[in-house]
Amino acid sequence: MKNPHLILGVLEGDDIGHEVVPASVQIASAAAEKHGLRIEWKPMPVGRRALDTHGSTLPAGTLETLAKMDGFVLGPIGHRDYPKGPGAINPHPIMRKHFNLFANVRPTRSYPDIGCLRDDVDLVIVRENNEGFQPDRNVVAGSGEFRPSEDMTISVRVITRKGSERVARVALALARSRRKLLTVVHKNTVFKLGCGMFVEECLKAAKDFPDVRVNEVIVDTMAMRLVRDPQNFDVVVTTNMFGDILTDEAAGLVGGLGMAPGLCIGDGDFAMAQATHGSAPDIAGKGIANPYAMVDSTRMLLDWLGRRKGIAEAVAAAGSMEKGLTAALGDGKARTGDIRGYGNTESFTRAVIGNL
Ligand code: ATP
Repeated sequence: MKNPHLILGVLEGDDIGHEVVPASVQIASAAAEKHGLRIEWKPMPVGRRALDTHGSTLPAGTLETLAKMDGFVLGPIGHRDYPKGPGAINPHPIMRKHFNLFANVRPTRSYPDIGCLRDDVDLVIVRENNEGFQPDRNVVAGSGEFRPSEDMTISVRVITRKGSERVARVALALARSRRKLLTVVHKNTVFKLGCGMFVEECLKAAKDFPDVRVNEVIVDTMAMRLVRDPQNFDVVVTTNMFGDILTDEAAGLVGGLGMAPGLCIGDGDFAMAQATHGSAPDIAGKGIANPYAMVDSTRMLLDWLGRRKGIAEAVAAAGSMEKGLTAALGDGKARTGDIRGYGNTESFTRAVIGNL
């Protein structure tokens, strides 16, 4: 029998990260206790506070220490507000690359009464995480964006067969565990080689999943269909930047960024919980941030680690978290203002714990 024990890093990030990450740890701890799962939380500095205390937003040794754990919770990073300087880097692309977390799994689901534009959304977008159009991810050194002259900028998009195939396999396996439908989103009408290769690799991988139906949608059509008929999608797989944009759009359908969780995974048994939203400096320190996205990302982490490592207690704890979250979302006094509630971060957290 597996020892029901997980070691997880806690990196709060910036701004509302100092509010929504502690809420996630509190809730996950209560759920773990209920099911006899021991979680050793290891807080580590990252972001603006780490810059002030350690001279770097990603202090030396962080990656090596994290590598000895089962996974970690990363709060939102407000890198746009970092002062310019050598230690002020955006840590999360480095983490995704270092741990080879090439698939960003981002679910979107409607809940009643919280101001969703649609009441029938239940889909997951799997976004390729480590190449594509993100200039900080598609090269080993330097940037995938450069300026040969004052009046010209060139941005490079990298698509590889391996990168496409492995993210397709994650999405196909996920579709197999859900409604068995995969939609490949691309623009191979224009990016004939790049998106062409992505689609080719997705279709090749799909041959190993004959029980999963696969269709294709062009990205601009997808932007429209997400609004018009989101109920017709189950799992969607796409390249990095299309995924970045479509996941925010999907969040808009179901109450906004506070409702958009995510889990970054790769081939190994190691994962990073990271909500889709940024650090929202405009509402930081007020205690009103919606912790749902970060808490649900943490729930996904427990569920995924539990299944990968055969720790039933972790899967059960995640199940309790889901129950608590659903109940808290249904409680107008507990939920936060962004989702038509009268509560705050603390009341939502209490409501989840009370309903685990
Ligand atoms: P990034 O590019 O780093 O993802 P962003 O430009 O998408 O950041 P966010 O920081 O995610 O911006 O936030 C956009 C706005 O959404 C915020 O100003 C805030 O009002 C709202 N918001 C984001 N996250 C939450 C949350 N958890 N709870 C409530 N409101 C939120």
